[in-house]
Amino acid sequence: MAHILPYPPMNIPPTELLGWYEGARRDLPWRRPDVTPWQILVSEFMLQQTPVARVVPVWQDWVARWPTPSATAAASPADLLRAWGKLGYPRRAKRLHECATVIARDHDDVVPHDVDTLLALPGVGGYTARAVACFAYRQPVPVVDTNVRRVVARAVHGRADAVSSSGVRDHADVAALLPDDERAHRFSAALMELGATVCTARSPRCGLCPLTECAWRRAGYPPALGPGRKVQTYAGTDRQVRGCLLDVLRGKDCPVAKAELDVAWLSDIQQRERALDSLLADGLVTRTADGRYALVGDAH
Ligand code: SF4
Repeated sequence: MAHILPYPPMNIPPTELLGWYEGARRDLPWRRPDVTPWQILVSEFMLQQTPVARVVPVWQDWVARWPTPSATAAASPADLLRAWGKLGYPRRAKRLHECATVIARDHDDVVPHDVDTLLALPGVGGYTARAVACFAYRQPVPVVDTNVRRVVARAVHGRADAVSSSGVRDHADVAALLPDDERAHRFSAALMELGATVCTARSPRCGLCPLTECAWRRAGYPPALGPGRKVQTYAGTDRQVRGCLLDVLRGKDCPVAKAELDVAWLSDIQQRERALDSLLADGLVTRTADGRYALVGDAH
């Protein structure tokens, strides 16, 4: 049976949200005025499923070393994988290299500003395209991540969390909330910041919230419908094994014998072989003619 709310959906007043945002927003390096659209795009690749604190030092080193798409495109994929370090999901580094190559070759080294052209770039999905259009080019497009979904579910609809992660309805929801003026891009950023720092998943800090009206608070914080979210584990997963194998190769500047990879994960041989096969299939690792292994671009 549908969950009937006692009140109609609420609005989020831009003045309340933006007034708070101006004073409370974090001084993240990719928000500074001299940062280019390409560097913002790099931050969005890195921030996918990765906490801000881990991204900051890697992003700073990365953009100092490869400040433009053409500089990134000219870099060795092996160097990019080394610089990616422990951010996880290293396919993103490879996709970023492909994305840089297309921008340098087809777009005069300038990140496109419209969502449809951004969506055609390698590794750029709906969220990243909108985030770059909004944060780099100040376009009034809805930018919807899990933080924004949660704030809108709570403040507007009175639910503990978003009903689905499909995104279609959420985009319409957030688009309807955006102010119809030059504040729209800041409103998107502020919604995200509120979800990241105040209206957090486990313990919302309602005492610090700038919104004077919140449907979930008014309804007495009804619990989430349906099963809770599963917490992702890392220890013992194929992701961890891939990370261990990549660590070995990052530490070398020439191909290594298979035995050097074998000792990196001894507890489950099948899992290790599966992880190595997946790294080869993803194009992150190559096998030389004499049977040794290297990061892609390192097999001389
Ligand atoms: S009042 Fe609490 S639950 Fe509502 S939006 Fe603010 S922090 Fe989130």
